[in-house]
Amino acid sequence: MMEVIPGIYQVRLPLPFTPIGEAPMGQVVSQTNIYLIRGNAGWLQVDAGWNAPETFAAYKGGIKEIGITLEDISEIIITHAHLDHFGLAGKIKGLSGTQLALHEKEKYFIEPGDKTFEQIAREMKEWLYKNGTPEDNIPSSQKIPKGPIKFISPILPDLVFFSGDIGDPDIFFSGGEKINTGHFDFEVLWTPGHSPGHICLYERQKKVLISGDHILAEITPEIGFSPFSSSSSDPLGDYIDSLKDLRGLDVERVLPAHGDCFSHFQGRIDELIQHHENRKETILQFLGNKPATAYEIASKLPWMPQKGGISWIKLDHLNRRMALMETLAHLKILEKEKKVDTSYRDGREFYSAA
Ligand SMILES: [Zn+2]
Repeated sequence: MMEVIPGIYQVRLPLPFTPIGEAPMGQVVSQTNIYLIRGNAGWLQVDAGWNAPETFAAYKGGIKEIGITLEDISEIIITHAHLDHFGLAGKIKGLSGTQLALHEKEKYFIEPGDKTFEQIAREMKEWLYKNGTPEDNIPSSQKIPKGPIKFISPILPDLVFFSGDIGDPDIFFSGGEKINTGHFDFEVLWTPGHSPGHICLYERQKKVLISGDHILAEITPEIGFSPFSSSSSDPLGDYIDSLKDLRGLDVERVLPAHGDCFSHFQGRIDELIQHHENRKETILQFLGNKPATAYEIASKLPWMPQKGGISWIKLDHLNRRMALMETLAHLKILEKEKKVDTSYRDGREFYSAA
């Protein structure tokens, strides 16, 4: 536990296994930072951590160190519905009776309608096939869980089924809401990209930004495209636009959901934008005139450059899936910029240099 701003405490919660693993860009995420914010009528909590006994024990230890109990939490705001942020929300809500809030665009992951697990698995299979994934890389059979689906994982909707007590939101934001705690005056900023309903919280007077996974100091947030990860046709475009939207804000301290707090707000935004520009350039270099599927393109790209580059062969199933989603996010923005042409053959989608 650390008081990062007077009245705002950061608690680092362990991830018992890494949900985004060792991501293709070579990032290792092993902790989620949550924030507890002093208020007149109770404490505001931002994010909740992974749903595991060790994480919950660390959470209880953290709030005890601050000197508060579960009953003191009056509202939990979730920056986005990924399980390293949202996982414990249901349990904490159940024990504290607090209100739970997140952006309306995250609703789909929590209330996926009448979809059955079979349908989701089939849609994901079709999507993998369409993007050129070879048969032996498409998961074939798995245990189909019973009962209604309570949560869709954006990355592995066909493999991961969440059966814990998922949080039932009370409030859905659309962006622009004001949250006054008596000590702090936060504004909800909708920052789609990493997730369609990702939000940041901005304290204008104190020049503090709680950035979730939108802006991290050491990690490049994963921006992927799949029918489940985004309700947008261009998540990377959304991401860049929402970075540019924030760039003009007066921010002295960024409180991220992973890694250390930092101050070089605008410089970090520029680095993130530049990273994706470079990645687009690399993809263009690997694109020929001969149409190729996103899978073929992803399999030729260098991955994990921080580790000296790891070949596609060495990536595991999850990393390949994420690499495919990231490649597609870049192809979609390049297509919008008219640098890439798309064609279709035998139910598959192909990309070539325009
Ligand atoms: Zn995260």
